[in-house]
Amino acid sequence: MTDQKRVIVLLGKPGAGKGTQGAALSKAFGWAHISTGDLLREEMLRDTADGVKLRGIMERGQLVSAEIVVPILCRKIEATEASGVILDGFPRNLAQAELLAQNGVVVTDVLYFDVEDDEVISRLSGRWIHKPSGRVYHEVNNPPKVSGIDDVTGEQLVKRSDDSRDVIAKRLDVYRSETQPLLSYYEGLKGVQLHQLDVSHKAISVIQESVLSIFQR
Ligand code: AMP
Repeated sequence: MTDQKRVIVLLGKPGAGKGTQGAALSKAFGWAHISTGDLLREEMLRDTADGVKLRGIMERGQLVSAEIVVPILCRKIEATEASGVILDGFPRNLAQAELLAQNGVVVTDVLYFDVEDDEVISRLSGRWIHKPSGRVYHEVNNPPKVSGIDDVTGEQLVKRSDDSRDVIAKRLDVYRSETQPLLSYYEGLKGVQLHQLDVSHKAISVIQESVLSIFQR
């Protein structure tokens, strides 16, 4: 399905910076940045029976079933004409990785962001988002000029409902048990280039330089 496309999987804990760095990669190379979290949040807003079900699962920090996520993702990959796709938040477990392969999507690169739990908790619990643009702020590290207001549009910022401390803890548990094993899976998979970055206590701009340089080589 992805013929000659470069397919880059962003792997790392929630709050590792996959969204931010995925957006930078997309801008630099023209690749499509596909976040399954964003796709599911869009789906959730549709007031359908599935949307209501999704809301409950996501607000508890659990994983949505592969039967729902995989078709949404594959439709999105198929619709893109970019020469590369950046998968942000997918796969989340081995079953999803295998389904992706079965759907003909060949992963070429895995970018693993290694970050400590303490930093994840501080990043996510202080995160504010401008929904229409996806701009992300942090109340301490990257505050907006006026508290609660987007710098560019003057619109209200919001908190993600799963960025509360107890749900962050749950998301980290799910990451450890379900997603972390993907690192050894991709390490052992022929044809995949694995790039590892330590992103704890580093500025976004410094991490971005390292990320871009990997693909400029
Ligand atoms: P994210 O925006 O990547 O932090 O994802 C937010 C939430 O969306 C997760 O906690 C899950 O409930 C759901 N989600 C996102 N991607 C997936 C996926 N690949 N499989 C299952 N659930 C997902």
